[in-house]
Amino acid sequence: MDCLFCRIVKGDIPSSKVYEDEWVYAFRDIDPQAPVHVVLVPKEHFKNIMEVPKDSEIMRHLGNAVQEICKRERIDKEGFRVVNNCGEKGGQTVEHLHFHILGGRNLTWPPG
Ligand code: 5GP
Ligand code: ZN
Repeated sequence: MDCLFCRIVKGDIPSSKVYEDEWVYAFRDIDPQAPVHVVLVPKEHFKNIMEVPKDSEIMRHLGNAVQEICKRERIDKEGFRVVNNCGEKGGQTVEHLHFHILGGRNLTWPPG
């Protein structure tokens, strides 16, 4: 299977790493929408959040990573946004589960 984010996780495609542990990998978005724009992915391939088995520990590891990344990027206190685009209407363009972590500016609501 040819998956862009699996290739980034493996290091076949270079990326600007922000955080890595046994379960997850995070890197800077190539087309940042805010001063801080990190993409957080599980190392294991899931097409989207609906494909993650119920009660899977990966969601716990992703949550822990969000906290750690926001501290490292110094947006933990001022606030930030975590976005998961899922499927066609959700605007997902890369079919490997990922969370956008956006911060460093005032983010408007609602999104487009
Ligand atoms: P989606 O639209 O699926 O929610 O998010 C995919 C994100 O991946 C987009 O924000 C896009 O800019 C980012 N992206 C796509 N290709 C690459 C790449 O090769 N490297 C990096 N760092 N980000 C990418
Ligand atoms: Zn993948």
